[in-house]
Amino acid sequence: MFVLGLTGGIGCGKSTVSAHLATLGARILDGDRVARDVVQPGELGLARIVARFGTEMLLPDGQLDRPRLGQLVFADDAARLDLNRLLHPLILDRLRTGVRQARQDAVTVCVLDVPLLLEMAGLAAECDAVWTVECAPSTQLSRLVARNGLTQEAAAARVAAQWSAERRIAAAMAVLDNNGTLAELHSRIAHLWQQLPH
Ligand code: ADP
Repeated sequence: MFVLGLTGGIGCGKSTVSAHLATLGARILDGDRVARDVVQPGELGLARIVARFGTEMLLPDGQLDRPRLGQLVFADDAARLDLNRLLHPLILDRLRTGVRQARQDAVTVCVLDVPLLLEMAGLAAECDAVWTVECAPSTQLSRLVARNGLTQEAAAARVAAQWSAERRIAAAMAVLDNNGTLAELHSRIAHLWQQLPH
């Protein structure tokens, strides 16, 4: 099985790429979904958040107040690093379980679709290749604002919480340029896909 790490600037089109890879036959492990799963009520991740940041991070029904936590961690680097330190090991565990399951299911290409793949210690080394999806900063910000309903300032804070595009590009094996149309993106994906051993 070929393990493909897929990362990129937030809003640059990573989920769009992984959705297309799924149509080509890849198994997708969705890092955003795993990150939400580990903070469900009853999960260790949520208990860790409450222990570190207090019960004010909970909604009356016991769910995580995601916007409130987001406001805190995108305004405070130390809080965000703490959150990552508490949750990343749990997320890594689940992703590794997903990879093991994919092997058992005789999957040929398993994609780890993870925004912080390069930032998460050790994960890139477990991938046979890493692709990063990038676009111009102005396009990234406008896609983020349109998709998440964020202000320019809030969108910029989320961008600043990731590695820079330059750093991702230096670490990745291939770059998917997503400044053009979806059709152009699909043909770039097809080109890279053909080079994978499957
Ligand atoms: P990411 O997963 O990297 O955060 P998404 O794949 O969700 O980014 O893309 C961000 C937004 O930009 C989405 O609303 C998506 O539909 C849109 N988008 C992605 N690629 C293109 C493109 N080539 N042209 C126009 N819109 C795009």
